[in-house]
Parts: sequence; C-alpha cells; structure tokens
Amino acid sequence: MDEIKEKVASITEEVIALRRDFHAHPELGFEEHRTAGKVEEYLQNYNIAVKRVAGTGVVGLIEGTKPGPVLLLRADLDALPVEEANDVSYCSECPGVMHACGHDAHTAILLGAARILSSMREKLAGSIKLVFQPNEENAGALTMIDEGVLEDPPVDAAMGLHVWTPLPSGKIGVCSGAVMGGLEIFKITVKGVGGHTGYPEAAVDPIIAASDIVLSAQRIQTREISLAKPTVIVFGSISGGTKANIIPDTVTLEGSVRTLYADSEEINPMKKLESLAVRVAAVHGCECEVEWYRENIPLVNDTELVRLASAAACEVTGSESDLNALSCMASEDFSEFSSRVPGVFVFLGTGNEKKQSHYPHHNPRFNIDEDTLPLGVELFIRFALRFFDEWEVK
Ligand SMILES: [Zn+2]
Ligand SMILES: [Zn+2]
Repeated sequence: MDEIKEKVASITEEVIALRRDFHAHPELGFEEHRTAGKVEEYLQNYNIAVKRVAGTGVVGLIEGTKPGPVLLLRADLDALPVEEANDVSYCSECPGVMHACGHDAHTAILLGAARILSSMREKLAGSIKLVFQPNEENAGALTMIDEGVLEDPPVDAAMGLHVWTPLPSGKIGVCSGAVMGGLEIFKITVKGVGGHTGYPEAAVDPIIAASDIVLSAQRIQTREISLAKPTVIVFGSISGGTKANIIPDTVTLEGSVRTLYADSEEINPMKKLESLAVRVAAVHGCECEVEWYRENIPLVNDTELVRLASAAACEVTGSESDLNALSCMASEDFSEFSSRVPGVFVFLGTGNEKKQSHYPHHNPRFNIDEDTLPLGVELFIRFALRFFDEWEVK
C-alpha cells in the first residue's frame, strides 16, 4: 500500500464516525449551526485557520510551504426536508429533516482530506481553500461568492465531488463539458372566464387551453431545439377548478426546464416556452402570464482539470475501467464556482444494492455505501497534489 492509501486507511474510521454524526444531526440550508461548529472545531484541531462566510459557511486555508496557485475544494453542509425511512443506528434525530443527498458524506470526506493535506504542507506549492458551503439545495454558493469566498486569496481553480447512488460503488464519474443541468423553474397562469359546464359557449375555458400548452410544450424539445442540445421540459403541477360542473377562471401550471448546455439568445428554451404558452392560450381566447427564475446554471467541467481529476481517479481505483463519462440533468450550484474559475466536479459511485445504498437521491431510504468514503478522501488529496505539480497559472 502506498503512503497516501495508508494515511487514508488510518483515518477511515474517524471519517465514518464524522459522517454518522452529521447524518444523525441534519440541518436545513442556512441553519447548519451545529454542523458548521463541528467543522470549525475539527479544522482548528489540525491548525487550519478558519473563518465564517455566509453565516453557516466555513472556510479553512491550508498554506503550502512554497508559493503557487490557490485551489478551492468544496463540500456542502445542508440536509433536506425529508422524513428518514432508514433503520440504522445513526438515523436522523431531527423529525422531518434528513441527509438524503449525501452532503453529510461530502463534509466528512473533505474534513478527512483536510487533516491529511494539512500534514503535507511541505509538499504543497500553493494553498488550499477548504469551502464548507451552506444551503446547496437552494443555490447557497452565490451567497458565499457575494461575500467574497473567491477572493483573499483569489482562487485559481475549484474541485468538488458528489456521492452518487446511480453509479455503482467503486466507480468514479468524470468527463469534460456540461455534466449537470441548468435549471429554470416556471409558473404559467392561464386566465379564462369561468362559467357553467352546461353553457361552455358562454365561458372561456382555461382547462382546455392549459392542456394544449402542456402537450404543445413537448414540441420545443424535439422540433425547436437540436437533439444534440439536451433539453427537458417537465410539468410538475397543474391546478385549477373546484367542482365537476364549473368551468374555472384560471389554471396554473408549474414545472422545470433543464438543459445540458449554456443557453443563448438563439437557443433559450424558457423563452420559447413563454412564447408558445402565450400563443396557444390566445388560440383558446385565454390570457397567459409566465413567470420564471433560474435556479442553477449548467455545470461545465474544465478540460485540463478533468485530465488531472481522471489521472487522480485512476490512482484511487487502480483501473481506468472504473472511470465513467457521467453527465446528468440534475443540477448543482457548484456551477456558480465553475462559471467564475476553472472547475471540475466528480461523481463518486456509492450505489450498492447489497448495502441498501441504491435508492435515489432525495428518497427517504437514501443511504450511501460507507466503504466509498475513503475513496473520496483519497481523490481530493491526489487531485490537489497533481494540481500543484501540473497546473499552469494562466
Ligand atoms: Zn440534492
Ligand atoms: Zn446534493
């Protein structure tokens, strides 16, 4: 076993204990007070200077003994409003709140990596900024950026990882380009004129207009945007009406638009949806109002950092065949870092049916295969070492 694997093995029990402690005490976005306190305490134990950014965000700095670039390593702290359905000894002690996305694992993994990297300062030509981010599930990265997390010292590149149950344990997903989706959330209000279902000619029916909008919107993905530009429009809610014999005044449709590419004036599916909804509603004599906001921009990996991360991942797994060119339509606010500095985001496979870690993210039965935690620790360390050896500051 080489030196790094030995060091990681020596702290694996501690990393598992940290993860179980965070799992048992989940906290929602911007309420991660206990978690942030534990993170601060742990980093200070290893002589890592810490400060608070964005309230419950914690930033640690490991300065190498030689000058060089600044690498940001990121973990997220927040849990979700989900009632845990697992029967494990470290089950959530907070009713209705659960680490159902694996951010407990990310925090424990980065703490373990920080402990080992802080003992290797003489090997680091540059600095490592450890970012423990609050509120990932609601774009908390932007609050940290607004409060200057990319400055003082200025960050040259960023890396993050996500434990991933759709990917089998022991596999690592890394590839260039867009790897997670951009996400827009919309609400369409279709306004007609209510009336009696026995006299539909005296009313303007918003239900039939809304139904037409739902079906017509599916054309955007296949007829208005190239199939080489992955786009998916999904309606998650339709509401309108109170009784079988009444035509309602309004119907509201809510949903999401996800893309795996940066949009532009020419290709902007949300604007296409707005235009289509207004036109289809007009055909039915209805008015239509479309509101939306952007939740996340697409997460785009830097090619050179992907090369470094792939080489590091190969050393971790021991085989190139365990690497996987994974991309998906879920979204992540790491994209806010990687749109400002070169970044790479890596998926750490943790799906294993025998260990009941095959449930989807955000599911009440979500869990991870804890044997993959040391792989994450090792990946952060090996990536950082390669980065300082090979990254050319541009
Ligand atoms: Zn999530
Ligand atoms: Zn997540």
